[in-house]
Amino acid sequence: MPPLPRLQRRKQMTLQNYIGGALTAPAAGAYIDNIEPATGAVYSRIPDSGAVDVDAAVAAAAEAAPVWAAMHARERCDLLLRVAALIDEHADALALAESTDTGKPLWLARSLDIPRASQNFHFFGTAALHFASESHTSSENVINYTLRRPAGIAGCISPWNLPLYLFTWKIAPALATGNCVVAKPSEITPVTAHMLSQLCIDAGLPPGVLNIVHGRGATVGAAITAHPAIGAISFTGGTKTGADIARVAAPMFKKLSLELGGKNPTVVFADCDFDAMIDTVVRSSFSNQGEICLCGSRLFVERPLLDRFTDAFLERVRALVVGDPLDDATRQGAVVSRAHMEKVLSYVDLAIEEGGTVLCGGERVRLEGRCADGFFVAPTVITGLGPLCRTNQEEIFGPVVTIIPFDSEAELLAAVNSTPYGLAASVWTQDIARAQRMARDVACGIVWINCWMLRDLRTPFGGMKSSGVGREGGWEAMRFFTEPKNVCIRFPD
Ligand code: NDP
Repeated sequence: MPPLPRLQRRKQMTLQNYIGGALTAPAAGAYIDNIEPATGAVYSRIPDSGAVDVDAAVAAAAEAAPVWAAMHARERCDLLLRVAALIDEHADALALAESTDTGKPLWLARSLDIPRASQNFHFFGTAALHFASESHTSSENVINYTLRRPAGIAGCISPWNLPLYLFTWKIAPALATGNCVVAKPSEITPVTAHMLSQLCIDAGLPPGVLNIVHGRGATVGAAITAHPAIGAISFTGGTKTGADIARVAAPMFKKLSLELGGKNPTVVFADCDFDAMIDTVVRSSFSNQGEICLCGSRLFVERPLLDRFTDAFLERVRALVVGDPLDDATRQGAVVSRAHMEKVLSYVDLAIEEGGTVLCGGERVRLEGRCADGFFVAPTVITGLGPLCRTNQEEIFGPVVTIIPFDSEAELLAAVNSTPYGLAASVWTQDIARAQRMARDVACGIVWINCWMLRDLRTPFGGMKSSGVGREGGWEAMRFFTEPKNVCIRFPD
């Protein structure tokens, strides 16, 4: 196997597109600087590709499509399992790349991001072996069966927060169901997608089956969205970008799966198991610097528990070590970019303007040594704001949470459901009837009771309202990437 691109701390790495089975330079020869968030320094160059490169990727996908679609599910499964095995084999290099690109702690990339990328290929590769369709018998001599064919060429566009994890979460089911793929990782965090290209070559994935085009959303992403030969778009990212994509793709009648932003509630009732709750709520608030779409950013706490909760929560948040992502002791790494750091801090200013009180954090953290210019934000807890102010309505997507007391279930539900979003909620109570009422009435696609982020890959994943359209995961993904066709047969009487 040719050596994987290693992170070179002195010499800059230049990334390449993966088109038609080969690593290629962008047609226009232009590149964008890639910045390491923990140091603020440029450390690699990314192809600044354009519509010409997307056209080449689509042409390669179209050429590969008939053979890939006709391939036995067993063979497709074997190839995807080979990619999973190579991800496992190169897990350390991938984790280091993910941590360097995003600013997240290396231990987190090693324990969460990279294992999940491998599991995605494993899960959907083997799903291809079990995927079945329905048949409906109408009468003794009339039977219908549903034929599920690949949707065609799929466009997969993913964000920067869980780069390889979410990129593979889309690519794997698309490939498993016999589609060829043109994919774009976030331009801010492209390195592990580049490394995946090499792993796919090494795994023997046929040329053109997966194509990865690097570049900006406004050029590469827009070209994928608008390309007439791409019939299905699976997108994860911000709600505004999702709306832009829908505006282009919907009139072309493309299949669309949109996984968008959130403003997730965490609900703590006074009867909860406090010890089980408190550490998990610290995690659900600040994991990955709060840059997980599933993190809870509005903490609703039943008033009798408010003081105890606030004291215990603050004690734990103040103890979170903000530090070099390469250090095992670090609990909070850098946020992904200078622009994102400034956006997050602007929301702290807004919260103060709106009458909030910052109980801890609220500022940039300046570290010493190699991370002196990195983009670090202290984990921040704000109180004193009502549920309808902008701070409690808009997605911040960083290490900032608010605490909001409540007195009754009716008041709570009105506040919880007051945002335009509806992705995920986490509810803490020992009252099973109340838990069931919350699960029914909270307007979110995912409700965790007495837990957070326990993910079973078979379950439907996605949000309501402005958090998205459609569901991913399990059979939902396998169905999204296939086109059902009803075949009705009448046998002679
Ligand atoms: P963006 O919407 O900015 O970008 C997502 C992807 O879309 C990137 O690859 C981006 O490219 C690309 N893109 C940007 N503009 C266009 C366009 N006009 N047409 C097509 N593609 C485009 O989101 P972020 O990367 O900032 O990610 C954070 C957001 O993602 C948050 O809102 C978060 O809630 C959401 N998210 C949702 C999840 C879910 O499952 N619901 C999971 C994870 C995150 P580029 O980066 O190059 O601009």
